[in-house]
Amino acid sequence: GVPLVRLLGGTALRVPTDVTLAAGDAVDLATAAGRRRAEGFTVLKLKVGTDAHGDLDRVRSVRAAVGPDVRIRLDANQGWTPREAVRVIRGIEDAGLDVELVEQPVHRRDLDGLAWVSDRVDLPILADESVFDVRDLVEVIRRRAADMVNVKLAKCGGLQPARTLLDLAAAHGMGTIVGSMMEGPVGVGAAASLVAAHGTTAVSDLDAAWWLAWSPVTGGLRYEGATVLLPDAPGLGIADVSEAKVQRHG
Ligand SMILES: [Mg+2]
Repeated sequence: GVPLVRLLGGTALRVPTDVTLAAGDAVDLATAAGRRRAEGFTVLKLKVGTDAHGDLDRVRSVRAAVGPDVRIRLDANQGWTPREAVRVIRGIEDAGLDVELVEQPVHRRDLDGLAWVSDRVDLPILADESVFDVRDLVEVIRRRAADMVNVKLAKCGGLQPARTLLDLAAAHGMGTIVGSMMEGPVGVGAAASLVAAHGTTAVSDLDAAWWLAWSPVTGGLRYEGATVLLPDAPGLGIADVSEAKVQRHG
């Protein structure tokens, strides 16, 4: 009978989110960045890692398009070798492009490589695919392989393990963000409720439901610019599920 956020011990119903810019060439990225900024987003997550040689130009192009007041974070999605990662990240640092963090620069299983990169750059390194569950996070902490961890309900299995991951990271001085897969209002609503109740050190990555052309549910969260608005309604505030919509689009 209460909103999930309240069940988890929180009261806030507003959660800021970043928005993702899909991997593309420097010009397309700059165009997309300008659009997202005009829509009210102030934290952009730029997908890189598909072409190490062009990534510095991509970041430069986005920074030039949005100016100094927008935060830029990168997600390499495991795409670089450790050497490429260090070369690209140092290039970004030397160019003064003011990037907030770099997510998953190298292959998820290469924790030695991840630690090697973290040792050699100043930008915070955020582990995503390297950390699904608590054992993964313990290993990252033990090797000092990353500065931050991206906690997702769909990786760790739900709200309880997600809270454990956030607490464990905080206890070891690691930064935290909460993200999602390509989920709709149900999954993103649960993740946003977790953030509202628990808090993280950096802005969440919860834009997935914003991209949906249609949703099988009515009710649930809404977006207002770069803010996820949680409904003040029981659970996730989902009012109805439309079988007809699922049939029509499925
Ligand atoms: Mg990621």
